[in-house]
Amino acid sequence: VFEHIQQAPEDPILGVTVAFNKDPSPMKVNLGVGAYRTEEGKPLVLNVVRQAEERLLADRTQNKEYQPITGVAQFNKLSAQLILGANSVAIKENRVTTVQALSGTGALRVGAEFLAKHYGKPVIYVPVPTWGNHNKIFPLGGVPVKPYHYYDPKTRGLDYQGMIDDLRAAPVGAVVLLHACAHNPTGVDPTEEQWEGIRKVIRSKQQLPFFDCAYQGFASGSLDTDAHAVRSFVADGGECLIAQSYAKNMGLYGERIGALSIVCRSAAVASRVDSQLKLVIRPMYSSPPAHGALIAASILGDRDLFADWTVELKAMADRIISMRHQLYDTLKARGTPGDWTHILKQIGMFTFTGLNPEQVQFMTREYHIYMTLDGRISMAGLSTKTIPHLADAINATVLG
Ligand code: PMP
Repeated sequence: VFEHIQQAPEDPILGVTVAFNKDPSPMKVNLGVGAYRTEEGKPLVLNVVRQAEERLLADRTQNKEYQPITGVAQFNKLSAQLILGANSVAIKENRVTTVQALSGTGALRVGAEFLAKHYGKPVIYVPVPTWGNHNKIFPLGGVPVKPYHYYDPKTRGLDYQGMIDDLRAAPVGAVVLLHACAHNPTGVDPTEEQWEGIRKVIRSKQQLPFFDCAYQGFASGSLDTDAHAVRSFVADGGECLIAQSYAKNMGLYGERIGALSIVCRSAAVASRVDSQLKLVIRPMYSSPPAHGALIAASILGDRDLFADWTVELKAMADRIISMRHQLYDTLKARGTPGDWTHILKQIGMFTFTGLNPEQVQFMTREYHIYMTLDGRISMAGLSTKTIPHLADAINATVLG
């Protein structure tokens, strides 16, 4: 009965790692997947995560019971505070409902199914380009995707006017997906003034912002700075959805820990929304896993661990920024033709190099450097040792 099934293509991002793993070359470098690596190229488990795990292990009152459908209550509360701020008026007024989710992806999917069921205008506008999974999560969750202009290849920056025009032209009430900070894949974020312009258009058209926040603390190194856009939308009293992920900022990739918050107009509405989120989650996976939520809640809820976390987070962000400078300087030193200032200007884990698919394939073939075909490289996968090799490859491909 399964004879007719065709071989599916590899995922465009995770497929890069599959190809990388097959390559026997000692020179190989994986800049495909957005996962942090140390200078030695190794995955990093944060010290605060180890400490939180030790505390959990030592606590004999812990058991392995099912969690509630919406997950660990303390984790949800602290997650809302992390993104909205400890003094958030919306939280004080009980207008925010938060559910634990299977990392950022799960939060987006639960949000999509909730909107498909309960929101009158289930269509979501996403930036071009965007994280590839958005284009699959939303339609499969019942919310068709439409594009809005975002990246301008000419300036390698934001096409602000194009974005504003598209949002003005989009229907009243449409959902708008916004990357809260460190836009993936471009590394291009609006300025604070531009966010203000975007907010005004979205609010004037009663559109519904859906923030995808996968990199809080990773863009600038400051959790509060990276929450600016979300907080400005919540401060105006309007509604929004927020998907949070602790994959990157706590390095909890494989724990699948994130949260979905929905900011409502009143406590009564938030409570009803919460009841409906349970009906979305229950038949999907019943209830979420406990371990990641307990780690994150321990860190978020303990003053010392929280303080240590911000230091470790800043160190990761700073290492990425230093990789940007080293790559830029090395290309300058090689005399590689072109303007490479976008490597310095772009924000977060990725640089959108501007290299085309043929150039990417050349670099993979000749230099064993792996990245997605759109020319996106994970700066977190680089080190002082691998930068000269990458610069040689870019230089060779640009010189043709
Ligand atoms: N949104 C964006 C923009 C991302 O880059 C990512 C991670 N690559 C995610 C969401 C979700 O990742 P996860 O499910 O691992 O939290």
